[in-house]
Amino acid sequence: MSFSYTAFDLPHPPESTQRDTPRLSIVVPCYNEETTLPALFGRLEQLNTDLLAAKLIAQPFELILVDDGSADGTWAAIQNAGARFAVTGVKLSRNHGHQKALFAGLMQAKADVVVSMDADLQDDPDAIAPMIEAYMRGAEVVYGVRGCRETDTWFKRRSARAYYATLRRLGVDLIPDHADFRLMSRRALKALSQFGETNLFLRGMVRELGFQSEIVTYSRSARVAGESKYTLRKMLALGMEGITSFSVQPLRMIVMFGFAVAALAFLFSLMAIVAWAGGRVVPGWTSVVLPLSLLGGAHLIALGVIGEYVGKIYEETKRRPRFIIDTVTSKHAGHDTIVAPQPIELVRAG
Ligand code: UDP
Ligand code: MG
Repeated sequence: MSFSYTAFDLPHPPESTQRDTPRLSIVVPCYNEETTLPALFGRLEQLNTDLLAAKLIAQPFELILVDDGSADGTWAAIQNAGARFAVTGVKLSRNHGHQKALFAGLMQAKADVVVSMDADLQDDPDAIAPMIEAYMRGAEVVYGVRGCRETDTWFKRRSARAYYATLRRLGVDLIPDHADFRLMSRRALKALSQFGETNLFLRGMVRELGFQSEIVTYSRSARVAGESKYTLRKMLALGMEGITSFSVQPLRMIVMFGFAVAALAFLFSLMAIVAWAGGRVVPGWTSVVLPLSLLGGAHLIALGVIGEYVGKIYEETKRRPRFIIDTVTSKHAGHDTIVAPQPIELVRAG
């Protein structure tokens, strides 16, 4: 398999000094993934052997599995995971959603670098080696970018493309075709922990961090088992999050729209006055009802958009914890070698 490395948006020239071989944590959020976990464990077992052999990791990695309030046997599977690497299980108190589950896992990480990936092996574990190489060259963040989306449905492909294009027009800086498969250094993670928002849109937040970054392209495979846990509703919520968290353009667009409507209304009034002065007053029903209904619609849209943002302000001012952990377990499978016992220091807990 081949990977292309692209120097991406480098704020500083790449450091020439090679970094030391890092310790690695892999964070995987799991929501009803009982059927996919066995395949994941098998694949990661292989990856651990490969990475050790290639001297890309200093010791067997730590796998952090976050159970996002699953209703099936996911937590039991996490507990029983017997592996040649360390396994940390984080059980959230209920289903908090993918972004919050992932964030909870990231904040538990103890290693020098952390890779986040999905449980269903759609993110190719073989791309982790080039990600670590990029880190060793000096990158603090390495984005996994899907080279092709053939395995996604037609709807998902089209909606994703339209969504990225819209965000770009709204001034939101995202890496196209990058979701949440990425490597972050401990430094980048610490910076991320300073973001105080309750509503999380990690791919946008990580982009805001800056730092030296690279991208690694990979081809996205089909889910190994089970079905997508991202319902249309969850997808729409995430999409909305991306816009309202990172752009106030929609509010400005309302103002522009308002001006345009006001200008038209002004022209219309001039016409009406001219018609009235000329004595050509028509007992017009259409001319009353049409603008009224158009304006009614415009008002509702405008109010709706403002409401979205007001709702967000309401949620953010409550400053509720972003996730609530029920239990954390850890297993070192015979080699108690993960030495840094401190998870990322939280600037804002939860
Ligand atoms: N996931 C989660 N909480 C949720 C929904 C999804 O932790 O509420 C996890 C899921 O178990 C998987 C990852 O998020 O590891 C991505 O979900 P999925 O593969 O279903 O999304 P898709 O690839 O279809 O977009
Ligand atoms: Mg998936």
